[in-house]
Amino acid sequence: MKTAIIGAGIAGLAAAVRFQCAGHSVHVFEANPYPGGKLSSFSQDGYTFDAGPSLFTMPHYVDELFILAGENPEAHFKYKNLETACRYFWDDGTTLNAWTDIPKLAREVEEKLDVPAKQVEAFFERSKKKYDGAGRIFLEKSLHKAGTWLSSKVLRALFRMPFYDLFSSMHQVHTSWFQNPKMVQFFDRYATYNGSDPYEAPGMLTIIPHFEHGIGTFYPEGGMHSITQSVYELALRKGVQFHFNHPVERILVDKGKATGICVHGKDLHFDRVVSNMDVFYTYKKLMPEQDQPERILSQPKSSSALIFYWGVKKQFQELGLHNIFFSNDYQKEFEAIGNGTVGPDPTVYINITSKHSPEHAPAGGENWFVMVNTPCNQGQDWDALIPEIKKHVLDKLSARLGTDISQLIETESILDPRLIDGKTGSHLGALYGYSSNNKMAAFLRHPNFSRKIGNLYFVGGSVHPGGGIPLCLLSAKITSELVQ
Ligand code: FAD
Repeated sequence: MKTAIIGAGIAGLAAAVRFQCAGHSVHVFEANPYPGGKLSSFSQDGYTFDAGPSLFTMPHYVDELFILAGENPEAHFKYKNLETACRYFWDDGTTLNAWTDIPKLAREVEEKLDVPAKQVEAFFERSKKKYDGAGRIFLEKSLHKAGTWLSSKVLRALFRMPFYDLFSSMHQVHTSWFQNPKMVQFFDRYATYNGSDPYEAPGMLTIIPHFEHGIGTFYPEGGMHSITQSVYELALRKGVQFHFNHPVERILVDKGKATGICVHGKDLHFDRVVSNMDVFYTYKKLMPEQDQPERILSQPKSSSALIFYWGVKKQFQELGLHNIFFSNDYQKEFEAIGNGTVGPDPTVYINITSKHSPEHAPAGGENWFVMVNTPCNQGQDWDALIPEIKKHVLDKLSARLGTDISQLIETESILDPRLIDGKTGSHLGALYGYSSNNKMAAFLRHPNFSRKIGNLYFVGGSVHPGGGIPLCLLSAKITSELVQ
């Protein structure tokens, strides 16, 4: 069985390992000269940066690939469990260390925000129950196969709909639990983990804090890029063949079945085609003559981001691996994003991998990945917006850290929604495919298979179960289970 995979993003790599282990002969065609898509890295002037994802949860989905291939994951992919998930900073001087250990976090919250520890622990317990009761099934199974809906667990979950807060927004759920606005903002932020808006996204997404604090927050040895590298090397060891600088131009369809792909003007025949390219572009660019699932393809996109990669010639003891500098009015911030722009007081996220991988920065320095959430690209004047946003970011960080940050930046690179689209073929530069700002969003994602074209499958952040590394890995698992 010959299988072609279009794209070597993390979902394409995971699918390659799974299909090859199932006995297929797998060829991966990647437009870029390197694997990983968004999960890549680069070096500049002595600093090394992870280009995209920085938060790593659910490492067992990576481990599974090695186990499936008959290898010991620890021999090839090492990661550590972190004690702190994130450090939070508010403009009024409040700080919070979000310990991954829930009782320790609850005590910290009680001390710093005056929210009873018991209430915080109860919220996490509820988050876990939602995940165990239904969340997990919806993420690990195809929602487009009858078998999923007929399982006793799902039927039980359907009878307990109010428990899952499907019809309230995340923000409504949080305000029903907590009065303290900082606590609400802390939990609201989890909507951004899949590029959504807490004032719109369904309350079911309150399972997300359980990933970070219940299951854990991890750091891969050498940085996030080692996830790509280790899965790529595993695929090579299993015999997967990679073709870099090979952008696929068309999917060949004959008598309702995918029969191969066209690359560099040449038709190549395969028994199966798996697209890891954004589903919108897969239809629009690779098979424009086929029926287009317009309802799915026109769903709103997730948010995008503006990232400043800064080499900073100073070390900051008050900062950790993940740091959040919150805006003063979260609702206004998301209203601005909803209106296609970025307000004057955005929340700023800083990721510093040199805290754990000192080789990522010269001695005495730090590699700052500074990100603000933005709308996806709708033709905004980014060249005018970027310097404006940069000024707001610098003002906020300089005031909070008590030093002029602009004077410490030795080297800079910038990633904006246009470049995210251009570098990884992500429609409009969305980070996580389609947004979850709709109670039905989970059901409006494209399935992992084509309903109309036989032997055609889809993996990656733009299809079920959604964006983010763990979900992309799950899309590959669901797809390979469907095929088998
Ligand atoms: P991609 O990584 O988008 O890869 C698709 C691949 O397909 C690309 O390599 C592209 O070149 C290739 N391709 C496209 N068209 C063609 C073609 N015609 N022919 C051949 N190849 C083609 N997730 C987290 O879990 N944690 C985070 O902290 C996090 N933060 C993020 C921050 C940023 C700035 C970004 C951009 C993303 C972040 N994400 C995060 C999301 C995560 O990166 C993605 O969900 C995930 O990496 C997507 O993987 P993928 O396999 O779907 O596709």
